Amino acid sequence: MRVILIGPQGAGKGTQAKRISEKTGARVISTGDMVRAEIKAGTELGRKVKEYNDRGELVPDEIIVEMAKPHLGAPEGWVLDGFPRTEAQARALEEVLAELGIGIDRVIALEAPDEVLVERLSGRRQSQATGRIYHVRYDPPPQDSEEDPGPFVQRDDDTEEAIRRRLELYHEQTEPLKRYYARQGLLAEVDATRSIPEVTEQVMKAIRENG
Ligand code: AMP
Repeated sequence: MRVILIGPQGAGKGTQAKRISEKTGARVISTGDMVRAEIKAGTELGRKVKEYNDRGELVPDEIIVEMAKPHLGAPEGWVLDGFPRTEAQARALEEVLAELGIGIDRVIALEAPDEVLVERLSGRRQSQATGRIYHVRYDPPPQDSEEDPGPFVQRDDDTEEAIRRRLELYHEQTEPLKRYYARQGLLAEVDATRSIPEVTEQVMKAIRENG
């Protein structure tokens, strides 16, 4: 199964990608995670992409395509989280898939209004111990917990300025992909303001209906 998740930051792409992967065995391919891993490892590429990441700007298409490419032939299939994000990336993906002789089964757009997203992102905290994501109001990090001692930190690009920039770029560059994939009969839209399990259910339903 090969599925693309499109959606603004904070819509829950990462959360849903993980849940779909658990249900179907498909591998999660997250270009954002790859970008953060390069930054953390302090590689030359990491230094290059950090500037874009921290400002909420998009990393140049060629770099992202090269990062994603080696994973796209995975025999267990995939859920793409955060890629493609521009029409140029969508076209590059199409070329790679044609070479591999495989196709996309479904594209899911997770929908939520900007106010909800800003609220979700600005309260988001990640445990450096376990990687788990919390929200200061809706799912607060535990205090004095042995299971997850933290510390609980904010992502470098979850500042208000970077959040606004990422949403602006989403509407400008990524949202047009909905039309691109709708024309191919692949798009399904899901309301991402619902609870996590409800969203998963709608996503799985859209995958099963498969165009
Ligand atoms: P994410 O975790 O998906 O929000 O990605 C974090 C950051 O990584 C983005 O703000 C971009 O700087 C970069 N990035 C991740 N995926 C892409 C992509 N497909 N195209 C361009 N930049 C990306």
